[in-house]
Amino acid sequence: MTKPTEDRALAVRAELEKRFAGLALPTRPYIDGRWTDPAGGDTFDRISPRDGRLIARVGAGGARDVDRAVAGARRAFDSGVWSGRPPRERRLVLQRLARLVEEHAEELALIESVDMGKPYTDALAVDLRVTVQSLDFYAEAVDKRYDEVAPTAQDRLATITREPLGVVGAVVPWNFPLMMAAWKIAPALAVGNSVVLKPAEQSPLTALRFAELATEAGVPDGVLNVVPGLGPTAGAALGRHHGVDAVAFTGSGEVGREFLRYAADSNLKEVSLELGGKSPQIVMPDAPDLSVVARAVANGVFFNQGEACSAGSRLLVHRDIEEELLELVLAESRRLVVGDPLDPRTDIGALVEDRHLERVLGYVRGALDEGARLVLGGDRILAGTGGYYVEPTVFDRVDPRSRIAREEVFGPVLSVFSFENTEEAVRLANDTEYGLAAAVWSRDLSTAHRLARSVRAGTVWVNCFDDSDITVPFGGYAQSGLGGRDKSLHALEKYTQLKSTWIRL
Ligand code: NAD
Repeated sequence: MTKPTEDRALAVRAELEKRFAGLALPTRPYIDGRWTDPAGGDTFDRISPRDGRLIARVGAGGARDVDRAVAGARRAFDSGVWSGRPPRERRLVLQRLARLVEEHAEELALIESVDMGKPYTDALAVDLRVTVQSLDFYAEAVDKRYDEVAPTAQDRLATITREPLGVVGAVVPWNFPLMMAAWKIAPALAVGNSVVLKPAEQSPLTALRFAELATEAGVPDGVLNVVPGLGPTAGAALGRHHGVDAVAFTGSGEVGREFLRYAADSNLKEVSLELGGKSPQIVMPDAPDLSVVARAVANGVFFNQGEACSAGSRLLVHRDIEEELLELVLAESRRLVVGDPLDPRTDIGALVEDRHLERVLGYVRGALDEGARLVLGGDRILAGTGGYYVEPTVFDRVDPRSRIAREEVFGPVLSVFSFENTEEAVRLANDTEYGLAAAVWSRDLSTAHRLARSVRAGTVWVNCFDDSDITVPFGGYAQSGLGGRDKSLHALEKYTQLKSTWIRL
């Protein structure tokens, strides 16, 4: 895509800044269909990663706020005002919400971009588009599903029906804030649950605005509540709450484990976890057009500042083509523009917060100490803006045992490894505690298919990277996830339970 001229880009940025300044940002918990003050009166600061400036003070929900939200959600659920509505009526409301989100897409994308640092153009083209798709998909699905009748003896009738769980807690990260929330809220609401959402403290603003739009669309009070707050307080309160029937979590493995403990220590609520990744891209010597591969490798790891769970952060390349491919990857990476998320020329925005910037730079220093060779980037840039920008960074000659090879950096850092044969490629690819995604590049159908089968990952791309659709499940093997998938009709399984009813005829 051609980039706008400098004059045009500056005009767009100025216009977006003006629009953002004119927005009344939502900053308080949204419980039972209205804004409420947090019981403890605490707030936390939202600092924009684009320039390090304060954009909002947000009410920090705590245990008492979570309690109120869960009580409201339970009341709504038990009353049947949503759970008891015919699926067709829930469909119409969720479709209305999809249209409202569409109408407000530019506003929501702007808030998302300033709040967490991703390019505005990506927020609009990816996050908001997929959010709308999720709402439409689950809305349309829900009045077209049938339950089952079991093949029992003639004098018995046994029905197998799916019922909503009740109150679902959703806890989401900051890298695709509204989109990740929609992947959970849309299927959970479609089948009749009530939801309490706890957005990440780094990116709570779009979820709050979304809740308000849900009320406008006709979602009854109490059915969707949003409690912003810190993980160890609001998040933990939701995880431990006896009134919550299920928690759907996306985030780090460390916190995912906490949710399993919370469930064990409270009411054994259902827990589903979507966790991290360290996804390999395996490039065979007969890969189609290496320049296409190089572009997919660069975009695959640097998209969203590398803050993507499925980021292709490990490039595994056959020794015969290593040098050629690396040159092409470096050229593609140099073409990517790091800059202000509101500038339409920007490909890579700002990292979410200063703590995360330090964490990513810590990994870069660690990789150097461990003997990896830095071939591109490695530094913070644009520090004068006050924002948290890191250049695309590439290491080769990476030791597979080193931290940079094994841990999720969640920043714009690529590690390159080489292999000599297919067995070695598979061994390297699977030498990880994660199993979220992988890509295989080969022109040979058998090689590609054999590799795709051998790699332990929830998603395998062949001769492409990052293709996705709401109709296709997303989630991980091994320590990348547990308890079902997001997206597709399979996600509905996470938000329903089976009831067997026996009738003696
Ligand atoms: P995180 O685990 O720190 O936080 C995620 C959520 O959990 C936030 O809302 C946070 O407030 C809450 N939380 C934090 N500590 C908590 C605690 N002690 N108790 C209860 N809740 C707590 O993750 P993050 O840094 O926001 O996101 C990055 C991680 O998310 C990465 O590991 C990434 O791979 C993962 N991720 C996975 C997917 C996927 O679909 N598999 C998608 C996006 C991100």
